[in-house]
Amino acid sequence: MKIISVDILKLSRNNSGGQTPVLVRINTDEGIYGYGEAGVSIGDYSLGCIELLRGFARQLIGRDPLENDVIYAQLISGFWAQGNGGVILAAISAVDTALWDIKGKYFGVPLYVLLGGKHRDRIRAYASQLQNGWKYEDFIGAPGDLEFLKDACRSAVEEGYDCIKVDFVAKHLDGTRIDRNEGKTHLSVRTMREIEQKLEAVREVIGPDVELILENHCITGANTAIQFGKLAQNYDPILLEEPANPSDVLDYERIRDAVDIPLATGERIYTRRGFLPLLERGLLETIQPDLGNCGGITEGRKIADLAETFGATVQTHTCNTPLSVALALQLEAAIPNFIIHEHHTTNTFRHNTESFIYDYQPVNGYFELPTLPGIGNEPTEKTLREAEIITVRP
Ligand code: MG
Repeated sequence: MKIISVDILKLSRNNSGGQTPVLVRINTDEGIYGYGEAGVSIGDYSLGCIELLRGFARQLIGRDPLENDVIYAQLISGFWAQGNGGVILAAISAVDTALWDIKGKYFGVPLYVLLGGKHRDRIRAYASQLQNGWKYEDFIGAPGDLEFLKDACRSAVEEGYDCIKVDFVAKHLDGTRIDRNEGKTHLSVRTMREIEQKLEAVREVIGPDVELILENHCITGANTAIQFGKLAQNYDPILLEEPANPSDVLDYERIRDAVDIPLATGERIYTRRGFLPLLERGLLETIQPDLGNCGGITEGRKIADLAETFGATVQTHTCNTPLSVALALQLEAAIPNFIIHEHHTTNTFRHNTESFIYDYQPVNGYFELPTLPGIGNEPTEKTLREAEIITVRP
């Protein structure tokens, strides 16, 4: 089997989420093709992957797609790939994922079979980003008030989720953003009072048995994460996510020493080399790699195995298209140290779910595993018609 052409697809912009998905489709002389996604579509960073993918495509044509590990090793050792970086790793991840999709289709099995088999038949999920509502499609314009937040939490729990995630540090109750400088320096009395009101409201609505993950989105740094964490730990959260820039390992040490909440991070960390400094210091209970930017399935598996040796669990970060949802389920089925799947509210939005053929949604908080060969999803004909497509041929 040989790669004969590569399509780079820029999908139409998702205005409510502010994202432009960029996919790659690798085509072979046997008619089998594979899809991959560059997982940096928030803020349209994915557009930076287009020229990188065009360059990679020229290197791929004529190659055997089943040699995916050999191709990954060559791409990841490229001049500017060494040292990591979100955009180049997202482009490499897209290629790697598409090659795995081809491999799964070639052998007629889902990826988790190729990865060693499924450790579980169902995937536990949590409802993510409830500060923006639950299935409330104006993601960016969501209000910040207590009733809106309580309604979102109530809806998710009523749907059967026993774990939810909320960002308490993004907005004031009046819907304005908390000042970014304040977020990194010192949280004011007003901000802390509002955070406490939100924590109280959420815990009251979800009750004592629903698990709560705190999402800080790197808005805080060491000082403010400690302020926040010392307050939030009274509400029995199970994880504090991205309390600081993940490159600031010493911040994570300070936060871990000061706050009684396990820490998690990973959606902005690339390859094993990015995770190692945090893991070897025992700073993370859960890692959250994004398979669309960490280096794909090849690297994601290695990252998960590295985490397992340090006793850390894995929840992949997933906020892109339904292709990435299916991809996440494949790896999460195939690793022993999976903990929970992030079901991002954006993956419930119609413009997203209807743009792909298959719509994987949890029931009572659990996903069934995809059973189709390969990743188990692809864009609809309508999505392809509306996409800008660059085709690279010999
Ligand atoms: Mg996150």
